[in-house]
Amino acid sequence: MSNTETHSEILDCSAVDGHDPDHLQVIEPKEVQLGGPDALRVRRTLPSLRRSFVGAWCFADHYGPEPGACMDVPPHPHTGLQTVSWLFDGEVEHRDSGGVHAMVRPGEVNLMTSGHGIAHSEVSPERGLLHGVQLWVVLPEASKDLVREFQHHVPEVVDDRGVRARVLIGSLAGASSPVHTQTPLLGAEVVLAPGATWEIAVDPGFEHGVLVDAGHVDVDGVRLNRAVLGVRDAGLDHLRITNPTDSPSRIMLLGGEPFEEGVVMWWNFIGRSHEDIVRLREEWNEAPDDRFGRVPGYRGPTARLEAPPLPKDLRLKRRFRRGRQ
Ligand code: MN
Repeated sequence: MSNTETHSEILDCSAVDGHDPDHLQVIEPKEVQLGGPDALRVRRTLPSLRRSFVGAWCFADHYGPEPGACMDVPPHPHTGLQTVSWLFDGEVEHRDSGGVHAMVRPGEVNLMTSGHGIAHSEVSPERGLLHGVQLWVVLPEASKDLVREFQHHVPEVVDDRGVRARVLIGSLAGASSPVHTQTPLLGAEVVLAPGATWEIAVDPGFEHGVLVDAGHVDVDGVRLNRAVLGVRDAGLDHLRITNPTDSPSRIMLLGGEPFEEGVVMWWNFIGRSHEDIVRLREEWNEAPDDRFGRVPGYRGPTARLEAPPLPKDLRLKRRFRRGRQ
């Protein structure tokens, strides 16, 4: 997906951090309208004012279930990141400048590595129910210029004491994903049966986020409602998640080694400095094929999305785990 929010950098939040690392940090989503006439509304929890990353997860949009929704995102670029698409319902047709043409379907993970530069389009073939998460993973300095890549995997369902888990990335509950990443990472869909309490061993070197898709859950005794992200810092060897309701609750469990680098995120680019972003924006708007390549087969009314103007008289700041500096 394409990020339409390009002015949030004006907020300087580097001083805002009252978070106690021994307790769950609760991040309420903000609603963001994606572009286009049939714009999809998403609920964004990463990046947020008080937290930029959970592990290397740096962007989390939750959307739907929206009946009659339509997604048509023309070719747009990415750099310095990987996109992870995960659907609960619906279907999205993906095309990219690496020559990949794939259908994104529920229960199948698709991870696209932008590395140095990629362009892609995303279209829902039919108007229908759309429901899923769009996640980004920030690439570390040493891997930021990787070549384009696309990984697809259909995880098996693991039954574990009242939960059903699908491991997209990493290892959990005895299951491992073959999807490879540049930093140690975990991504899983977990459905908790009514009344279930799940105690699960996790890597103490990871920080963890619980993003609620359906119902609500209690983590560390803290209630997390739908679309809310609860984050625990590294140091725990298990998580305890309870579904106190009488219907199934579904969450996305995100984890990873704390990502300590600073990056500049603007529109669909991740760079290391304000100057990186200025250059990437120019390259995309003036000679997109050179760096990002061409997306074959896209047939929408707009050939590609132009990068918006940069905020005037403002240097974009780097984001760190705990805000900007
Ligand atoms: Mn995208």
